[in-house]
Amino acid sequence: MELRYKSTRSDAAPISASQAILKGLADDGGLFVPETIPALDVELGALSKLTYKETAYEVMKLFLTDFTREELMSCIDGAYDGTFDAEEIVPLVKKDGAYYMELFHGRTIAFKDMALSILPYLMTTAARKNGVTNEIVILTATSGDTGKAALAGFADVPGTSIIVFYPKNGVSPIQEKQMVTQKGKNTHVVGIKGNFDDAQTGVKAMFHSQALAGEMNQAGYQFSSANSINIGRLVPQIVYYVYAYGCLLRQGEISCGEKINVVVPTGNFGNILAAFYAKNMGLPIETLYCASNENKVLFDFFQTGTYDRKREFILTSSPSMDILISSNLERLIYRIAGEDAGKTRELMEALAAGGEYRITDEMRARLNDFCGGFATEEETRAAIRNMYERAGYVMDTHTAVASHVYYDQAQKTGRKTVIASTASPYKFTRSVMNALGEDEDGVSDLELADRLEKLSGVGIPNAIEEIRTAEVLHDTVCDRTEMEKTVREILGLPV
Ligand SMILES: *Cc1c(COP(=O)(O)O)cnc(C)c1O
Repeated sequence: MELRYKSTRSDAAPISASQAILKGLADDGGLFVPETIPALDVELGALSKLTYKETAYEVMKLFLTDFTREELMSCIDGAYDGTFDAEEIVPLVKKDGAYYMELFHGRTIAFKDMALSILPYLMTTAARKNGVTNEIVILTATSGDTGKAALAGFADVPGTSIIVFYPKNGVSPIQEKQMVTQKGKNTHVVGIKGNFDDAQTGVKAMFHSQALAGEMNQAGYQFSSANSINIGRLVPQIVYYVYAYGCLLRQGEISCGEKINVVVPTGNFGNILAAFYAKNMGLPIETLYCASNENKVLFDFFQTGTYDRKREFILTSSPSMDILISSNLERLIYRIAGEDAGKTRELMEALAAGGEYRITDEMRARLNDFCGGFATEEETRAAIRNMYERAGYVMDTHTAVASHVYYDQAQKTGRKTVIASTASPYKFTRSVMNALGEDEDGVSDLELADRLEKLSGVGIPNAIEEIRTAEVLHDTVCDRTEMEKTVREILGLPV
């Protein structure tokens, strides 16, 4: 049975998985969602015997039904190979009674690698299947981690090029250095004078422009998206929740069928939505804890039923979660609206026009799988410090937000809890060392990395070693109103 994908904003005819991956966003501005969420067809008990790649196949085959077995296996093999520095791909480590699912062992040491190392394979396979001859231009806005992971994934992939926009003053020095030193003839990195939401809004506007699409097509290009709105990102993210459940079984930590909690440090709502899909596939998850930093728009939403982005944008020590418009929430809204595209459209238009929307009581009642939580900057620092003192384990700032929410809420349920550990502490060295009282003025981030190595006993990852000597290859900065102009210049279209 073919699983097709429909838009959250209209009842336009559904399309195949490969077409949805190529398009990224629906023509009506909506996001693609599967017509139904398929049920896992492996026995829960059998999960304990599967490797990461085997789990990936079992999950992805159910969603990407127009890919052949050979195609899918070759995508999975290509992605989860030697570029991960942990043999098990996603280690699950028990610290102080909770299970940290380390999603940061890929090329760019953040969880975005989990999906972005496979997306280029899925995208080029999808292009081949659909007879696409245009060059695929990946256009992406990043709050820091997506950009580098997408650049690393797409660099020198034939038939593609990639343009990444990031907030010039809104990412960590290491994140910026990672991006601007990216090699590959087909890679472009642009800083904008604005925040992540400005970057994301600018990118969405280009995706929606029929005029630009027409000109691009004439010149032999078409856009696609590597942002977490692409179904080709969402589906690979479901895999690790299923895999973690298998690990818990294998390690004898849970009995078969036992329900677990998950805590996910959340920004654009992609990672936690994948956990929600895993739950709907039949994975025994009780509660999904959505952990926010001080930009706690999602916490307030779960608390009140009103999504209100009209507030000050706060730059925190967990910049990949500094987001006021969580794009993937639209997929959840659609679902709790009873798959009502008209209602979803109305709410999303209200958000775009007035900066807020309110869901109905009926919709709110369907949110009970979720629980919101947040950590202040001080609580985040304390979480890092406390964990180091208790277990000698050093967490990054994003993981620390989730860890705080674990102690604050999930731990009290007595259920086994998996915490999505989304970045290596080496990616946010200064903030991490600051929390540990080891930060000093005048010491560079890379020197701090050396100190972190001594303190944590965990070797410096290759991703950090690389940038010590790497040359800056990208230095374009533009105004947030000039994003389209910049894209036109890069592609050689009339300005
Ligand atoms: C992107 C990111 C997040 C947020 O994930 P979403 O899927 O956007 O909710 C959290 N932590 C890190 C380190 C990230 O890179």
